[in-house]
Amino acid sequence: MFKKGSKLYSIFTGTCPKCHHESMYVNKNPYILSEALNMQDKCSNCGTKYKIEPSFFYGSMYVSYGVGIAFAVAAFVISFFVFNASLISVFIAIVATLIVFMPIILRLSRNIWINLFMHFDKNLVKK
Ligand SMILES: [Zn+2]
Repeated sequence: MFKKGSKLYSIFTGTCPKCHHESMYVNKNPYILSEALNMQDKCSNCGTKYKIEPSFFYGSMYVSYGVGIAFAVAAFVISFFVFNASLISVFIAIVATLIVFMPIILRLSRNIWINLFMHFDKNLVKK
């Protein structure tokens, strides 16, 4: 399921949505915060421009809302049901999770967003 050619591969690795050959991001590490959202203009392998139009990635904010909720729910389930934490601890756990994972949430959202518009093309894969 996470193999090249599936959207999940591109979403979780941040690779070019069309050829899955290289990372869309200048720096692979999302925790270099100053560069967390710096993206290449286009793919050096297949030439795909990532920014389909100006402010294209603003739309990913809607996705990050959903992704953030998914992380919050996970934090809730783990702290409340696994660790039996009190409600105030659960609340702190949720806030901490959202802060700690924010760079990943933002990147995942962009990856999901761009994969809604672009599709894998096996003809573009480097032989
Ligand atoms: Zn590409």
